[in-house]
Amino acid sequence: MKKRIATVSLAGCFGCHMSFLDIDERILDLLKVAEFVKTPLNDLKKFTKHCDIGLIEGGCCNEENVHTLQEFRNKCDVLVAVGACAIMGGLPVMRNAIMNSEDPLRECLEEAYMNSPTVFNATNDIPNDPALPLILDKVYNCSEVVRIDCQIPGCPPSGDTLWQTLTALIKGVPADLPYELIRYD
Ligand code: SF4
Repeated sequence: MKKRIATVSLAGCFGCHMSFLDIDERILDLLKVAEFVKTPLNDLKKFTKHCDIGLIEGGCCNEENVHTLQEFRNKCDVLVAVGACAIMGGLPVMRNAIMNSEDPLRECLEEAYMNSPTVFNATNDIPNDPALPLILDKVYNCSEVVRIDCQIPGCPPSGDTLWQTLTALIKGVPADLPYELIRYD
Protein backbone atom coordinates (compact mmCIF):
# COMPACT_ATOMS: atom_id res chain seq x y z
CA MET A 1 0.00 0.00 0.00
CA LYS A 2 1.28 3.48 -0.82
CA LYS A 3 2.39 5.71 2.04
CA ARG A 4 0.22 8.76 2.48
CA ILE A 5 1.96 12.13 2.73
CA ALA A 6 0.70 15.62 3.58
CA THR A 7 2.68 18.86 3.53
CA VAL A 8 1.96 22.42 4.55
CA SER A 9 3.63 25.81 4.79
CA LEU A 10 2.89 27.74 8.00
CA ALA A 11 5.01 30.82 8.81
CA GLY A 12 7.52 30.03 6.09
CA CYS A 13 8.48 31.41 2.70
CA PHE A 14 7.67 28.32 0.61
CA GLY A 15 11.39 27.92 -0.03
CA CYS A 16 11.34 24.47 1.57
CA HIS A 17 8.53 23.41 -0.76
CA MET A 18 10.44 24.84 -3.71
CA SER A 19 13.45 22.82 -2.61
CA PHE A 20 11.26 19.73 -2.53
CA LEU A 21 10.69 20.24 -6.25
CA ASP A 22 14.46 19.92 -6.69
CA ILE A 23 14.06 16.15 -6.39
CA ASP A 24 13.16 16.63 -10.08
CA GLU A 25 12.20 13.49 -11.99
CA ARG A 26 12.59 11.37 -8.85
CA ILE A 27 9.10 12.59 -7.97
CA LEU A 28 7.87 9.96 -10.46
CA ASP A 29 9.58 7.24 -8.39
CA LEU A 30 8.09 8.79 -5.28
CA LEU A 31 4.59 8.64 -6.72
CA LYS A 32 5.00 4.86 -7.20
CA VAL A 33 5.30 4.38 -3.45
CA ALA A 34 3.53 7.40 -2.01
CA GLU A 35 0.35 9.40 -2.42
CA PHE A 36 0.10 13.14 -1.67
CA VAL A 37 -3.16 13.53 0.23
CA LYS A 38 -2.94 17.24 1.04
CA THR A 39 -0.22 19.57 -0.14
CA PRO A 40 0.35 22.87 -1.96
CA LEU A 41 2.25 20.77 -4.51
CA ASN A 42 -1.02 19.45 -5.96
CA ASP A 43 -3.32 22.08 -4.41
CA LEU A 44 -5.34 19.52 -2.45
CA LYS A 45 -6.40 21.50 0.60
CA LYS A 46 -8.23 19.08 2.89
CA PHE A 47 -7.36 15.85 4.65
CA THR A 48 -9.43 13.10 3.07
CA LYS A 49 -7.44 10.26 4.69
CA HIS A 50 -5.20 9.70 7.69
CA CYS A 51 -1.56 10.11 6.62
CA ASP A 52 1.65 8.27 7.42
CA ILE A 53 3.94 11.29 7.09
CA GLY A 54 3.34 15.02 7.55
CA LEU A 55 5.95 17.55 6.45
CA ILE A 56 5.74 20.97 8.10
CA GLU A 57 7.42 24.09 6.72
CA GLY A 58 7.44 27.17 8.96
CA GLY A 59 6.60 27.82 12.58
CA CYS A 60 3.49 29.40 14.10
CA CYS A 61 2.91 33.16 14.03
CA ASN A 62 -0.91 33.18 14.12
CA GLU A 63 -3.81 31.11 15.42
CA GLU A 64 -4.47 29.58 11.99
CA ASN A 65 -0.93 28.18 11.99
CA VAL A 66 -1.56 26.59 15.40
CA HIS A 67 -4.85 24.99 14.33
CA THR A 68 -3.28 23.68 11.12
CA LEU A 69 -0.31 22.23 12.98
CA GLN A 70 -2.58 20.56 15.54
CA GLU A 71 -4.62 19.08 12.70
CA PHE A 72 -1.45 17.69 11.12
CA ARG A 73 -0.45 16.19 14.49
CA ASN A 74 -3.85 14.49 14.76
CA LYS A 75 -3.89 13.23 11.19
CA CYS A 76 -0.26 12.17 10.58
CA ASP A 77 1.57 9.31 12.27
CA VAL A 78 5.02 10.85 11.79
CA LEU A 79 5.37 14.60 11.86
CA VAL A 80 8.50 16.13 10.35
CA ALA A 81 9.68 19.71 10.91
CA VAL A 82 11.32 20.75 7.64
CA GLY A 83 13.76 23.67 7.64
CA ALA A 84 14.96 26.30 10.07
CA CYS A 85 11.59 28.06 10.40
CA ALA A 86 9.76 24.91 11.51
CA ILE A 87 12.59 23.80 13.79
CA MET A 88 13.47 27.06 15.53
CA GLY A 89 11.28 29.81 14.08
CA GLY A 90 13.71 31.00 11.39
CA LEU A 91 13.39 34.55 10.11
CA PRO A 92 9.87 35.18 11.49
CA VAL A 93 11.13 34.54 15.02
CA MET A 94 13.19 37.73 14.79
CA ARG A 95 10.12 39.60 15.97
CA ASN A 96 10.43 37.82 19.32
CA ALA A 97 13.44 40.06 19.96
CA ILE A 98 11.14 43.09 20.15
CA MET A 99 10.50 43.32 23.85
CA ASN A 100 11.37 46.87 24.85
CA SER A 101 7.85 48.26 25.09
CA GLU A 102 4.92 47.16 27.23
CA ASP A 103 3.14 45.95 24.10
CA PRO A 104 5.74 44.18 21.91
CA LEU A 105 3.19 42.97 19.38
CA ARG A 106 1.87 46.51 18.88
CA GLU A 107 5.44 47.77 18.54
CA CYS A 108 6.15 45.09 15.94
CA LEU A 109 3.02 45.95 13.90
CA GLU A 110 3.76 49.68 14.06
CA GLU A 111 7.27 49.03 12.80
CA ALA A 112 5.95 46.86 9.95
CA TYR A 113 3.03 49.05 8.85
CA MET A 114 3.87 52.59 10.01
CA ASN A 115 7.41 53.38 11.06
CA SER A 116 9.76 51.39 8.88
CA PRO A 117 11.71 53.61 6.41
CA THR A 118 10.38 51.71 3.40
CA VAL A 119 6.70 51.85 4.42
CA PHE A 120 4.20 53.93 2.46
CA ASN A 121 0.92 53.85 4.37
CA ALA A 122 -1.25 56.85 3.62
CA THR A 123 -3.87 55.98 6.27
CA ASN A 124 -1.42 54.79 8.91
CA ASP A 125 -3.80 51.92 9.57
CA ILE A 126 -2.64 48.56 10.85
CA PRO A 127 -4.61 45.72 9.17
CA ASN A 128 -7.27 44.49 11.60
CA ASP A 129 -9.96 42.91 9.45
CA PRO A 130 -11.78 40.22 11.47
CA ALA A 131 -11.11 37.77 8.64
CA LEU A 132 -7.38 37.93 9.34
CA PRO A 133 -5.99 35.20 11.60
CA LEU A 134 -5.21 36.41 15.11
CA ILE A 135 -1.49 37.09 15.46
CA LEU A 136 0.18 35.33 18.38
CA ASP A 137 2.12 37.15 21.08
CA LYS A 138 5.32 35.73 19.58
CA VAL A 139 6.44 33.21 16.98
CA TYR A 140 6.59 29.60 18.16
CA ASN A 141 8.54 26.80 16.54
CA CYS A 142 6.64 23.59 15.81
CA SER A 143 7.93 21.60 18.77
CA GLU A 144 6.65 24.29 21.14
CA VAL A 145 3.13 23.59 19.90
CA VAL A 146 2.94 19.83 19.17
CA ARG A 147 5.17 16.76 19.39
CA ILE A 148 7.57 16.60 16.45
CA ASP A 149 9.07 13.22 15.52
CA CYS A 150 11.81 14.22 13.11
CA GLN A 151 13.66 17.34 11.98
CA ILE A 152 15.33 18.13 8.65
CA PRO A 153 17.55 21.20 9.16
CA GLY A 154 18.56 23.70 6.51
CA CYS A 155 17.24 26.89 4.96
CA PRO A 156 16.08 25.23 2.92
CA PRO A 157 17.19 21.58 3.13
CA SER A 158 18.44 20.58 -0.29
CA GLY A 159 16.31 18.51 -2.62
CA ASP A 160 18.74 15.60 -2.12
CA THR A 161 18.45 15.87 1.66
CA LEU A 162 14.67 15.86 1.45
CA TRP A 163 14.72 12.95 -0.98
CA GLN A 164 17.02 10.80 1.18
CA THR A 165 15.07 11.54 4.35
CA LEU A 166 11.66 11.01 2.81
CA THR A 167 12.57 7.73 1.14
CA ALA A 168 14.02 6.49 4.43
CA LEU A 169 10.82 7.46 6.25
CA ILE A 170 8.75 5.65 3.62
CA LYS A 171 10.87 2.52 4.05
CA GLY A 172 10.75 2.87 7.83
CA VAL A 173 14.53 2.92 8.23
CA PRO A 174 16.87 5.58 9.71
CA ALA A 175 18.02 8.20 7.19
CA ASP A 176 21.71 7.59 6.51
CA LEU A 177 22.69 11.04 5.25
CA PRO A 178 26.21 11.58 3.90
CA TYR A 179 28.17 14.54 5.27
CA GLU A 180 27.58 16.62 2.12
CA LEU A 181 23.86 16.65 2.84
CA ILE A 182 24.07 17.75 6.47
CA ARG A 183 26.77 20.43 6.33
CA TYR A 184 25.58 24.00 6.40
CA ASP A 185 28.81 26.04 6.34
FE1 SF4 B 1 12.03 29.64 3.75
FE2 SF4 B 1 14.33 28.92 4.88
FE3 SF4 B 1 12.11 29.05 6.35
FE4 SF4 B 1 12.38 27.10 4.54
S1 SF4 B 1 13.62 27.36 6.37
S2 SF4 B 1 10.55 28.35 4.89
S3 SF4 B 1 13.53 28.19 2.92
S4 SF4 B 1 13.15 30.79 5.32
